[in-house]
Amino acid sequence: MKIQAIKTLLIKPGEMMLKGDNRHLFEKQLKDNIQSVLDEVCTYNITTESGRYYVYINKSDYTEQEIASMLCKVFGIVGISVAYRIEQDEQLLYEFLSQFSKQIYEKSPFSTFRVTTKRADKDFPTQSTEVSSKAGAVILSVLPDIKVDLFHPGINFNIEIRKKHIYVYHEEYKAHGGIPVGTSGKALLMLSGGIDSPIAGYMMAKRGLQLEAVYFHSAPYTSEKAKEKVIDLAKIIKPYTQLNRLHVVHFTKPQMEIYEKCPHNELTIIMRRVMMYVANEIARMSNCKGIITGESLAQVASQTIESLTVTDHAADFLVLRPLIGMDKAEIVDMARKIGTFETSIEPYEDCCTIFVAKHPKTRPVLDRILQSEKVLDIDKIVEHCILNLEVVRI
Ligand code: ATP
Ligand code: MG
Repeated sequence: MKIQAIKTLLIKPGEMMLKGDNRHLFEKQLKDNIQSVLDEVCTYNITTESGRYYVYINKSDYTEQEIASMLCKVFGIVGISVAYRIEQDEQLLYEFLSQFSKQIYEKSPFSTFRVTTKRADKDFPTQSTEVSSKAGAVILSVLPDIKVDLFHPGINFNIEIRKKHIYVYHEEYKAHGGIPVGTSGKALLMLSGGIDSPIAGYMMAKRGLQLEAVYFHSAPYTSEKAKEKVIDLAKIIKPYTQLNRLHVVHFTKPQMEIYEKCPHNELTIIMRRVMMYVANEIARMSNCKGIITGESLAQVASQTIESLTVTDHAADFLVLRPLIGMDKAEIVDMARKIGTFETSIEPYEDCCTIFVAKHPKTRPVLDRILQSEKVLDIDKIVEHCILNLEVVRI
């Protein structure tokens, strides 16, 4: 007789469990974030029990495995398994395992295995090591050609004994960890088409920030393709960051004005500061508490400690630069893992690369820059940018 087992996604949350008094807020946010992914792809029930979430899928065009990999992008989760739930009954467990192990073996044979048991219900009479060895013996009796290997098993049968039920699973999808998006508030990501800024956004969302994004576009000097590329990047990082809106600033006029009026060796730094002034306003309008950039110290001439200091003076918010101490190779590695790299290297121009001086100042002094900036009517520039703002839904 085939044993009735109910398929469920077993979700393991991460470090938020350490957060003391705020724990319930983190748990609620994580549940909301999980549900907003599920709402798009299936009908389901979700339950919570002692540090685990269980999702029962009723109807979907996707497999459990596919849904699990979508959920892996929700920060706050460390791992997800497709598990089978049976009643809490020791004999039933062994019978189930004999059928389950055979079924898996027939699909894809393995030569070694181990059993790992977690007895969360301490009232369960048999200790976890004993459950594991009895379960192992049962599996060996139906699959006599395989062997136990505790250290490098071909397959690991996990058993979790809870109050009413026992869960059995054999594979875990590794998720990204971090903190549920939204628990730290919102921040504005300055998103260019490059490799760095999408990664900066990913890293800060991992610490619980929900993202808004701003992109400075200088048509016709920067093409429609360049803008499409930024929209594509925004879409790739959306599942991690809940980035729903990209604010496109039409920046040609301010850039021309800066070019005409300011010393050419100061163009880059003044342009960055003007970007900051505009970003301040967008951050205020969209309830953001910080501004995120993809700058990394000394990566390019404009990212010296002096330049960053002078840029910061134009910001009304904390400027978060999570890549500040990273090497380019490390950033590229992350971009490959997250899936932004191929898009980032498409060869379209950025507004920072037009109108640049041959020998830009790499060690600007604030007073000197403030002096040069006096020729600009900053309020008017910001107003122009805000009035012409284009908001793209991601
Ligand atoms: P990236 O790889 O993110 O493009 P970068 O190495 O090209 O960065 P810079 O051009 O100095 O470095 O830009 C530094 C940061 O300034 C970017 O990471 C991004 O946060 C912001 N930035 C630059 N250009 C733009 C733009 N057109 N729109 C929005 N933000 C921008
Ligand atoms: Mg760039």
